[in-house]
Amino acid sequence: MSRPPNDVIIVRYGEIALKSRNVRDRYEKTLMSNITSMLDAMGASYDSVSRDWGRIYIHTADPAAAQAAARVFGVVSVSLAITCEPTLESVSSVAADVGQEIIGEGQSFGIRPRRTGNHDFSSREVGIACGDAVWQRIEHQGPSVDLTNPDVEIFVEVRQNHAFVYTDVVNGVGGLPLGTQGKMVALVSGGIDSPVAAWLMMKRGCEIIPVYVNNDPFSDETNRQRALECIRVLQTWAPGYSLKVYEVPGGEAQVSFLSDCQRRYTCVLCRRMMYRIAAGIMEKERAHGIITGASLGQVASQTSQNMLAETCGIHVPIYHPLIGLDKTEIVDIARNIGSYDASTRPATCCTAVPEKPATSAKCGDVCGEEAKIDVEELLRTALSGAKIVEPSEYS
Ligand code: ATP
Ligand code: MG
Repeated sequence: MSRPPNDVIIVRYGEIALKSRNVRDRYEKTLMSNITSMLDAMGASYDSVSRDWGRIYIHTADPAAAQAAARVFGVVSVSLAITCEPTLESVSSVAADVGQEIIGEGQSFGIRPRRTGNHDFSSREVGIACGDAVWQRIEHQGPSVDLTNPDVEIFVEVRQNHAFVYTDVVNGVGGLPLGTQGKMVALVSGGIDSPVAAWLMMKRGCEIIPVYVNNDPFSDETNRQRALECIRVLQTWAPGYSLKVYEVPGGEAQVSFLSDCQRRYTCVLCRRMMYRIAAGIMEKERAHGIITGASLGQVASQTSQNMLAETCGIHVPIYHPLIGLDKTEIVDIARNIGSYDASTRPATCCTAVPEKPATSAKCGDVCGEEAKIDVEELLRTALSGAKIVEPSEYS
């Protein structure tokens, strides 16, 4: 007997379930809408998306839809499943069909039963009925039951109005639904770190506004293309949200730093200017903070002393989600999210970086250097040259 076809994807979420009723309702709706956008963007076929207490369902038999759903922020796991009646007869018959198809000669199996709602049987009885049915169907091939470490697991979930049988639980990306935690400006340079930092905040539900500071003539088109390629990867994680990407000229400020300020402070001064630029865009876009890819001690200039000097007098929240991660951990995430190849394309280095950058800059010294130039005017010039990058350049 062949088993009935898969007809639904069970989508599970995590933290959303801990929220108050109203918040939960809002987050679930956002999650459903984000799932629909991802299904459409990845070309998966489906009939509809629905929800019931604690679960979202995608009505489809397309395995590509499960892959798409697993990429949606907020999704903890997905399972492609067969729907059946919430009776012992129905679930045990389907479990036997599935067992017959997937349990090999001499393999062990385990039933994983679950039940919610009112029924005249317990989840333990679901396990026993399904286990017996599977056993009888494949008795001739010498099966064994192993509930600790079986070769094959069959999950049977009985709910009030229907039941599901499935064999795989695929991990989702986790986090909170994109769009539920406000907006932030993400400073994206195109190196390995900044796209990962932006992605981590997207994973926690933040919409991002990517900003690339173009330091031409100290950087060139290779840097710009690399940054846009990283933003293209970030966009694939946010279908339904068209990223608004800013490109801001930073070269003129660099010229001032190089001609009028002590050479070793160039990087600190440059970051302060980038934060001011980002703060300007944050205000314009009514965003709530700034994201960078700084990781403590990763390069000589990313010291805690410098980080203090980089922000003195700059009163906006600046988030550094990679601050406590090792480079290997950041690279692992970059590979998983698909930004690594974009970030490691050949590109030239910034030619304004001094041979010996300050590693313990002091606020007073840095402000002293800034007093030698017209910071406000340089900021105005940079912001007035800000351009929105056409989506065709990164999609
Ligand atoms: P990344 O790998 O992201 O380039 P990094 O380790 O090379 O980071 P820095 O070059 O010191 O570090 O930059 C620290 C952070 O400042 C970056 O992660 C990024 O958020 C921001 N940043 C640096 N350069 C630019 C730029 N040209 N445009 C926008 N943001 C930038
Ligand atoms: Mg960099």
